[in-house]
Amino acid sequence: MSLQVQVDASLKAYNSFGVEVRASRLAEARTDSDVREALQYSVEQKLPLLVIGGGSNVLLTGDVRALVLRMASRGIRILVDDGERTVVEAEAGEVWHAFVLWTLEQGMSGLENLSLIPGTVGAAPMQNIGAYGVEVKDVFEGLTALDRQTGELREFTLAECAFGYRDSLFKQQPGRWLILRVRFALSRIERLHLEYGPVRQRLSEQGIEQPTAKDVSRAISSIRGEKLPDPAMLGNAGSFFKNPLVSAVHAAQLKRAHPELIGYPQADGQVKLAAGWLIEAAGWKGFREADAGVHRLQSLVLVNYGSATGLQLLALAKRIQADIQQRFAVQLEMEPNVY
Ligand code: FAD
Ligand code: NAP
Repeated sequence: MSLQVQVDASLKAYNSFGVEVRASRLAEARTDSDVREALQYSVEQKLPLLVIGGGSNVLLTGDVRALVLRMASRGIRILVDDGERTVVEAEAGEVWHAFVLWTLEQGMSGLENLSLIPGTVGAAPMQNIGAYGVEVKDVFEGLTALDRQTGELREFTLAECAFGYRDSLFKQQPGRWLILRVRFALSRIERLHLEYGPVRQRLSEQGIEQPTAKDVSRAISSIRGEKLPDPAMLGNAGSFFKNPLVSAVHAAQLKRAHPELIGYPQADGQVKLAAGWLIEAAGWKGFREADAGVHRLQSLVLVNYGSATGLQLLALAKRIQADIQQRFAVQLEMEPNVY
């Protein structure tokens, strides 16, 4: 067996909240055969298998009695390049932002709006990561996953992934699919998405009137760098709640009571409310109790000031949910995967 398995390992460095919990077993998968060995090990040892990438979308609420498998496979290959359309495949363990920068260096556009999102390529389809008007589904070509129930490899097309807002088949069927590699359809002809106000504003502040995909990536990276806490300095998992979708009637009622409410009408008639606005309006921005808090600049982001436990962070999240329900009759859904 080539898989190196650590016993009773700390997971503090492997979750972006920086929560101190221990895993009964921890291993790193660099190849498909490491993944298969890990599956076999978990069956033999009668231990559940928990797959992680960068740990930037998980909340660990206690010691993990499982074999935690960190995806560390590397490799990027160009499968199609006709001078205009390209298909690029990346291994699950590739660092997402490094991959985005690599595609831009190759003259391929499509991923620029998803710059500086922490984590790995393999986790990107899990919640159909999105930012500034672009989601993974918009550039998705296919992926290869291991069916943990049967041990067989399966290829997924776009239609088979059931991508939704921060959602996918893989998120809906937790523990079934282990994503090994992902394919993206990118373009050598730039079609930029500049709908989000702050992106256009940052580019115009920089005097850039005809931006390239690299300009957009740099602008978004600089906005994110200013607005979001760096997990290396302050533990967090990005947005802790999804933006809730409510009926147009409900949104209109709320708007009458709160004229400053921020909402975006959707194609299906519902309205997407800015969860951050609701939380801030309810007075939670900057709230802190012991080491668990709500970020002082970004009310959607829960933070760990040092020694918060996963349970303390979860309790804070539940208090916020209950308060928003009571004030606005809106149910906030948590975004990170809670274990
Ligand atoms: P992990 O946290 O390790 O895992 C997330 C989930 O995926 C877990 O359930 C895990 O079991 C599963 N998983 C991981 N890898 C695999 C695999 N190979 N196969 C099967 N299952 C797997 N998200 C956005 O959508 N948009 C943003 O703009 C954004 N900004 C963020 C900013 C900050 C500062 C932070 C901390 C987070 C942000 N996130 C954002 C959330 C997070 O970065 C993404 O969800 C990212 O895709 C998580 O990648 P990861 O490798 O860290 O996944
Ligand atoms: P923001 O620009 O302050 O906007 C607040 C919210 O309004 C966002 O959540 C966004 O929804 C929505 N919004 C803004 N302009 C919009 C438009 N033109 N059309 C439709 N919806 C619009 O948001 P932010 O918090 O700084 O984040 C910027 C982007 O990065 C957002 O897309 C956000 O989703 C993403 N982000 C995600 C995470 C995460 O962990 N999931 C963390 C940080 C940032 P959407 O969220 O639906 O885009």
